[in-house]
Amino acid sequence: MKLVVGNFKMNLDSFEINEYIDFFKEKGYNNVVFAPPALYLDRFINNGFSVASQNVGFAPKGAYTGDISAGELKSIGVNYSIVGHSERRKYYNDDKYVNDKVKLLLDNDIIPIICIGETKEERDNDQTFDVLSKEISDALKKIDTNLLNNVIIAYEPIWSIGTGVIPTNSDIEKTIIFIKNYIQEHFNVLPRVLYGGSVNNDCISNLESISCIDGYLVGGCSIKKEDFDRLIKNVG
Ligand code: PEP
Repeated sequence: MKLVVGNFKMNLDSFEINEYIDFFKEKGYNNVVFAPPALYLDRFINNGFSVASQNVGFAPKGAYTGDISAGELKSIGVNYSIVGHSERRKYYNDDKYVNDKVKLLLDNDIIPIICIGETKEERDNDQTFDVLSKEISDALKKIDTNLLNNVIIAYEPIWSIGTGVIPTNSDIEKTIIFIKNYIQEHFNVLPRVLYGGSVNNDCISNLESISCIDGYLVGGCSIKKEDFDRLIKNVG
């Protein structure tokens, strides 16, 4: 069954989160992972949901005000973590920390969902595969192959995030196959690859016809509970 990950980003207040949890509580989806703002993670966990943190600290512990460590996430039952989202790469210099974060997560038995993707300019300059290979190599370097079995990649073309514009099916397919082949060749594992970028109820049935997609990372559509529920029902 395909995985559906909802990335709320910095959205929904405490009251809205309670309504959201009440809405999804009885649905019993076991292929859905919720990534709410960190302060609500334990509320989701206590209600039986699988969760992803949207980020993790780059150091194991210590004087890093505002950060949350992989060990701390593990201690409350977090099972996935989004790493290297393009917004974190853009605003928080995450290119530099992705590899450290992936290592710390794997050491703590948390599955990293590593986001990679090209800008519009890189795409127009035919640099997509170079950018993706570099992001993959940086993220996975010097990590034990046995641990890499659990890693999930989210292919998110940056120009598609929040814009309503998505690549053609054939471009998505070509790129996901490239990612899988590259990782298999260089790291000897075949990862699950999610697609992310403006996934919603208008495009989901079309995306569902692409057989190499192993799931979706959903931003905007995941914060509207009814819309997200409809989307989940349309994923096979
Ligand atoms: C995202 O930010 O990971 C994302 C895919 O957002 P959206 O679905 O809103 O494009």
